[in-house]
Amino acid sequence: MSNLKCNICQSVNIDNFLIKDNWEIVRCSNCKIVFVKNIPSDRVLEGLYDDAFFKDGQKSPTEGLKLHNNPAYINAIKRIERIKKYDHCNGRLLDVGCATGIFLKAANASFKYSFGIDISKYATDIAVRELNVNAKYGTICDMNFSQQYYDVITMWDVIEHVKDPDKYIDIISNIIRPGGLMILSTGNIESIMFKVQKKKWHLLIPPKHLFYFSPKTISMLLNKYGFRVLNIENEGQYTNLGYMMDKLKRLHVKNKTINFFSTIMKKLNLNQYNIYLNLYDVMTVYAKKL
Ligand SMILES: [Zn+2]
Repeated sequence: MSNLKCNICQSVNIDNFLIKDNWEIVRCSNCKIVFVKNIPSDRVLEGLYDDAFFKDGQKSPTEGLKLHNNPAYINAIKRIERIKKYDHCNGRLLDVGCATGIFLKAANASFKYSFGIDISKYATDIAVRELNVNAKYGTICDMNFSQQYYDVITMWDVIEHVKDPDKYIDIISNIIRPGGLMILSTGNIESIMFKVQKKKWHLLIPPKHLFYFSPKTISMLLNKYGFRVLNIENEGQYTNLGYMMDKLKRLHVKNKTINFFSTIMKKLNLNQYNIYLNLYDVMTVYAKKL
């Protein structure tokens, strides 16, 4: 394992963790962060987030569901409510990995200024055109942000996708103001769900998910760049029944029970409904910049 170094603590002592779909997943023996051993090139990674990725069910504000019935929008409204426990939400917001702008849309009513970036031009075009929010195509690494500018920075389900999470948090620590609030969500590799499902865990999806955090490793990374973790919550999500069924069918191809329920649901027209689901395997981390 020469040349293999931990992204977070730079240790070269890396242990095997497991193999999923021929992807070797390893763990730093020093800081315990779990990650994909052979991270693909930028071009390959960007190819994973093509138009189809954002057309997938509830990621799109324009496919099928109306915005107010889109679970992603309902989740965004709930998220703003929770963030208000920590911040007035009337300053400047940056949403890193804003996708089709659904969270920005929900945030616009509260924040004085909000801006989002995403690596999908397709997604940011939808955000601007359909939702009329302030979004730009690009990554946090190639944009010139003003230092200590933002009051709140959010990063929903993004950090597990990036090949250099350390750099992301480093940059965010510079563009957030002292006392500002950063909120991120990511899967928990130490959750009961992972312990029970192991390789079948729905969030273990290399190479889309490259890094697998725990409360300890995400806190360590945030502390390294001057953040104090205020709280780590396991917040549930509203999800569309039809979307959930499609996801289950993809994960468990040929499972007769799932196919049976899927057919019944379609017949009864239940696919349009949203349900609240909490598997306690996603962490939402609230951290304050000191
Ligand atoms: Zn490490």
